[in-house]
Amino acid sequence: MHFLFHCSLQLRFPVPERTTEISFCDSLLILQVRIRNTAETKVFLKRSFFWRKVLIIYAHQEPKSLNGSLKNLAVEELSKQGCNVTTSDLYAMQFEPRATRNDIIGCLRNSEHFDYGVESWEAYKRRCLASDLIEEQRKVQVADLVIFQFPLYWFSMPAIMKGWIDRVLVQGFAHNFPQCYDDGLLKNKLALLSFTTGGDEEMFSKGGVNGDIRYLLWPIQHGIMHFCGFKVLAPQICFAPKYVTEEKRKEMLTSWAQRLKTIWEEKPINCTPELYFK
Ligand code: FAD
Ligand code: ZN
Repeated sequence: MHFLFHCSLQLRFPVPERTTEISFCDSLLILQVRIRNTAETKVFLKRSFFWRKVLIIYAHQEPKSLNGSLKNLAVEELSKQGCNVTTSDLYAMQFEPRATRNDIIGCLRNSEHFDYGVESWEAYKRRCLASDLIEEQRKVQVADLVIFQFPLYWFSMPAIMKGWIDRVLVQGFAHNFPQCYDDGLLKNKLALLSFTTGGDEEMFSKGGVNGDIRYLLWPIQHGIMHFCGFKVLAPQICFAPKYVTEEKRKEMLTSWAQRLKTIWEEKPINCTPELYFK
């Protein structure tokens, strides 16, 4: 019964080319073929976005901000494709950014000397992490693509998003040395930074006052995402939206929507030190 219900939901979305003429029953047949894992299924799955799951980690206080508009656009565009989109709206959730002993339910391994890394790793294994963390980890676990949408704060992400990273991507779940970088536990998932800045593109160039924007991407894309195994897609950067014309802002939104239409065809960047510092 659950299976049938699932199919009817999928049909509300625009169907891919190969299945435009099909009825509900045909679609069920296609699902059954998929389960049997035949060659024909592979062709279907390649063209279908129905089962793709996207998680958007969104950090902006104001829904009417450009970040809010970029997030809404991504939800709209990806849902239109038939993707299953979930948003963690960190400020609206009042997400706790502090990594403290409250994250570990029950006994600590060593209550004399608190070590967050060790305790959260142990608690992950015992399933004793705080429920908000378990819920965020569940969202990451099922996602094919995680989009981080945020305004640049101090050459980095807002503290609330950094707190999400500190608390959610714990050892055992996201990495477990030597399982890191290409062997990170979240391999086979994609990650993408979509952010806005105060400074313009010229300021973020190699000779500009802020230096090359790639220097800022290094700790996040390589030190966090790649470390956890994510394959990294090129960042989407809207430079200085406050200081450009309304027309230019509309262009920023249109180019994001356009990019999302073919996002599943994109190849990840080659996330090595050379890319950032050559
Ligand atoms: P908003 O001001 O919300 O949006 C810009 C404009 O877009 C607004 O006029 C809005 O009305 C309009 N808009 C919204 N939706 C639409 C739509 N659909 N169509 C057309 N227009 C729309 N910047 C740096 O460069 N480097 C830093 O290190 C840095 N550190 C910072 C640290 C802090 C603590 C803070 C508060 C800011 C910092 N900034 C920095 C600046 C910050 O990055 C920018 O202010 C921010 O990225 C702008 O994005 P926003 O979404 O908040 O813009
Ligand atoms: Zn890397």
